[in-house]
Amino acid sequence: MTVSAIGTLYVVATPIGNLDDLSPRAREVLGDVSVIAAEDTRHSGRLLRHLGLDRPMLSLHEHNESGRVAQLKARLAAGDDVALISDAGTPLICDPGFLLVRELRAEGYRVVPIPGACAFVVALSAAGLPTDRFLFQGFLPAKGSGRRGRLAALEEREETLIFYESPHRIRDTLEDIAQCLGTRRVVLARELTKTFETFLDGDAASLLTRMEEDTDQARGEFVVMVAGASPRTDDDEALVEAESLLKALLSEGVGVKQAAAIAVRLLGGTKKVWYARAQALKDEG
Ligand code: SAM
Repeated sequence: MTVSAIGTLYVVATPIGNLDDLSPRAREVLGDVSVIAAEDTRHSGRLLRHLGLDRPMLSLHEHNESGRVAQLKARLAAGDDVALISDAGTPLICDPGFLLVRELRAEGYRVVPIPGACAFVVALSAAGLPTDRFLFQGFLPAKGSGRRGRLAALEEREETLIFYESPHRIRDTLEDIAQCLGTRRVVLARELTKTFETFLDGDAASLLTRMEEDTDQARGEFVVMVAGASPRTDDDEALVEAESLLKALLSEGVGVKQAAAIAVRLLGGTKKVWYARAQALKDEG
């Protein structure tokens, strides 16, 4: 009996719009594997036909992924190579595949990435916002309260913030960005690599106005990028430390007057200013 070598899972990025963005290596892999696991087999069938490829496909989406893992592991164990693709871009990035890749890695299977487009990297590369540090957050919560809560939690992050968004929620999201993050610079990358690719630049409120003037600007797929918070100055840091000292003193039952006196001794400044700050903190509770 011959024992076939264990197969490889190829995680293959596909185009996010322009089909010419598929790499020759991706095409070769897709043509060579025994089976292609695709998020939506009908959608990916069109891509394969465009490439002139005819390979067996298997659906792998968020509702059946856990069940598919054992099945695909059996195929790999039998020596079959498998490709994983999603509807667009890089699998696992806001797309299915994490359970499969985690399990295969944990069990020592070979998992090989075949790189290509990923919408947020494509958007960031042409946005003109700082790229040295960024925070990709995927989709914001669908409900307004959850969305505002997430944005508020990000308020002090200094990295460029990046979100995915659909046309159904783009206006609500811009409104919430205006409310929670103010007038920072926002770059909206729409329909990347497609005919109506557009980059809009401005604060969230001005982008909303642009969408009201031209409703086409609210159509299609979006990557929303927001400038990070301005770095805190030494003065800001000192104020934050002083306020936490005052809060700690007040919560220990130290009176406003005495807290102000301690602040003057430790931090300098005038008793009058510290007294006013301590009184305000006490009133805020
Ligand atoms: N795996 C994909 C990737 O690598 O970017 C992302 C999949 S996620 C389900 C789909 C979201 O990605 C869209 O709602 C949109 O926010 C973003 N996206 C995908 N293609 C895009 C495009 N051509 N232009 C702008 N955003 C796009």
